[in-house]
Amino acid sequence: MSAKLARFILTENLNRLAKWIRLLGYDAVLYKSISFHNLKRIAAKDRRIILTRDRKHLIYAETDKIILIKSTEHLKQLKEIEDVLVLREELFFTRCILCNKLLYAISGAKIKHLVPEYIYKNHSNFKVCRKCGRIYWRGTHYQKMLKTVKEVFNN
Ligand SMILES: [Zn+2]
Repeated sequence: MSAKLARFILTENLNRLAKWIRLLGYDAVLYKSISFHNLKRIAAKDRRIILTRDRKHLIYAETDKIILIKSTEHLKQLKEIEDVLVLREELFFTRCILCNKLLYAISGAKIKHLVPEYIYKNHSNFKVCRKCGRIYWRGTHYQKMLKTVKEVFNN
């Protein structure tokens, strides 16, 4: 995986955007009830780009690594940051959309009891989040997401 991929830290009201950024394979953290002061410290320490909808943060950011998100709709928000994203399909679904942790490949046999039978029978590449236990596979949800991503970035 490239070391050049941008990393992000988002303010609390951008939770849906955070999920979509993770889905594209990017590291995106979001902390609840964090002060902007602490958010800035984490951003500086981890070299993260701050994403916020709050204009007043721009004044206090003391960094150019901040992007003011204008839209209230998460897919339009995603489009707003396209300049700092490189879309690589092999990165999609490599990260848990809830925990932001990298996913690990797991054999179908190990998760057979955890997914519906037709899923187990029709898929072979399963991934798991070791933090929350969520299991991912490239099913209809994945195809739908892929279509949405293409629609967002082709317009
Ligand atoms: Zn997880």
